[in-house]
Amino acid sequence: MSMRDKVNIQCPKCGYSIEVRQWSSVNGEKNPGEKKKLLDGTLFSVKCKRCGHTAQVGYPLLYNDPAQKVMIWLVYDKDEVKHVTDYFKSSKNSDGDNKVDRACRQRIVRDAFRLREKLMIFDSGLDDKIVEIAKLAFSQNVQKQHPKEKIAAAFFSNEGGENHIEIYSVSGSAFTVALTQDVYKTLDDTYSGKASFAEDRVYVIDDVWALGLLREFNGEHR
Ligand SMILES: [Zn+2]
Repeated sequence: MSMRDKVNIQCPKCGYSIEVRQWSSVNGEKNPGEKKKLLDGTLFSVKCKRCGHTAQVGYPLLYNDPAQKVMIWLVYDKDEVKHVTDYFKSSKNSDGDNKVDRACRQRIVRDAFRLREKLMIFDSGLDDKIVEIAKLAFSQNVQKQHPKEKIAAAFFSNEGGENHIEIYSVSGSAFTVALTQDVYKTLDDTYSGKASFAEDRVYVIDDVWALGLLREFNGEHR
């Protein structure tokens, strides 16, 4: 069930009061409209009725999709990360109505872009752990090919129907690398055993996580 609160914010441009409907949770199966808004980025944007300015808002939200066995918390501060981590750790062992399926993939993300990315990864039927490893490996390749650029961020996307990694540099350059099935399978064969080890203990699966895993893996395989 999706519940929501209503709060008012001041338009950053003209000061007019804008009503923001805040969703506390979105169920991907039951709320396909809201899921679509998460994917196109409009769930967190509000338009001022007086001046037309579009403002971005951010608030904690639980994305849940029982069919895909995915549960992702979008949280903003460190206390919330700790709170959700504690909840996740106990959730699969609890009894009653709140019991979480053992196979459920539980994640914590820190901004709406990462939430959107996770939805695209899971919708594509991919393992986000393997995708994070691919993002890191591709970023390192781009760095080697363009030594003067400083890589700032990388994102998975399936926009246009093809799985690819978008890599951005600090100077504003963008590089797109296709994540082909062959490359994905090679990475999956190499790392999935090691990567799955992290399940149920680590909930923030991101570039820092991938770097730690690769360092550990390469240390063992030297
Ligand atoms: Zn305004």
